[in-house]
Amino acid sequence: MYDWSSEEEEPDGRARPIQVLIVKDDHSFELDEAALTRILLAEEVRDREVVAISVAGAFRKGKSFLMDFMLRYMYNLASDNWLGDAEEPLTGFSWRGGSERETTGIQIWSEVFLVDKPDGSKVAVLLMDTQGTFDSQSTLRDSATVFALSTMISSMQVYNISQNVQEDDLQHLQLFTEYGRLAMEETFLKPFQSMIFLVRDWSFPYEFSYGQDGGMKFLEKRLKISENQHEELQNVRKHIHSCFTNISCFLMPHPGLKVATNPHFDGRLREIDPEFIDHLRVLVPWLLSPCNLDVKEINGSNITCRGLLEYFKAYIKIYQG
Ligand code: GDP
Ligand code: MG
Repeated sequence: MYDWSSEEEEPDGRARPIQVLIVKDDHSFELDEAALTRILLAEEVRDREVVAISVAGAFRKGKSFLMDFMLRYMYNLASDNWLGDAEEPLTGFSWRGGSERETTGIQIWSEVFLVDKPDGSKVAVLLMDTQGTFDSQSTLRDSATVFALSTMISSMQVYNISQNVQEDDLQHLQLFTEYGRLAMEETFLKPFQSMIFLVRDWSFPYEFSYGQDGGMKFLEKRLKISENQHEELQNVRKHIHSCFTNISCFLMPHPGLKVATNPHFDGRLREIDPEFIDHLRVLVPWLLSPCNLDVKEINGSNITCRGLLEYFKAYIKIYQG
């Protein structure tokens, strides 16, 4: 059942994305336990408390593109110039149009980052890319499971959506988190930690400004519960509020036509809209700066990388059921 192939080997020793969970065509799940074990039980990280950051959502919405900038930040934490050189092609999680097989599943970056927090603690930071297809009933179920799992094992879930927060984005989120909550022990605590709605290609900055403040105001309006709303709409909103300790939102501008449409675009900053870059400069540190990193908690206890591996295996068993 496990993939013992050389998937986890890194011939050149360089860090790269590792597909740790795949949903196969017959809708069964495959966990690459060997690869996951190798990453989470590496000596330097296994007993460190873990910060697990997941970016989730449908394909072709710029997740990997964003994650590559998150990687640049993590690799240059000490530098003001973490965004790098204007002409440097972007690398990391593969993102170029067409080069990626559309696999529903979870990829993690093979390098777990050790970060010193301002309070003197040292934490291990794990980056996850979670992707699904939401186009048919059966793929929606697969995606729900994958999304649920990534929400259960992350301390911060970034829900990457295009253009707006639509009612069906909220319904999907309700379905996904319900899948997750059902699989977990019941407690009086909210089951999940932080949820960030990341809206890409936001095009109404005159109504709600780009960034976090505009995002929060926008989200407050979208998640507001009112008496005269249809019961279903109220329930979706109540459910979402009851699942997460923190909910926030960030509105990103469009990155420009070269990014969106040019097949030869290689990710260099020079060809990205300056407005997008300005907001990347805010977004990425907001997500990842050492003082903002929250350790993963389950049932109120901090989790180490070793603990996370055990939870990952236990949770996947529930869904393989
Ligand atoms: P993923 O499948 O969600 O990981 O998407 P990718 O990161 O692979 O990006 C898919 C395509 O969208 C690529 O051609 C990117 O250049 C482009 N892209 C990246 N970010 C954005 C964005 O914010 N808006 C738009 N419109 N396109 C983007
Ligand atoms: Mg991707």
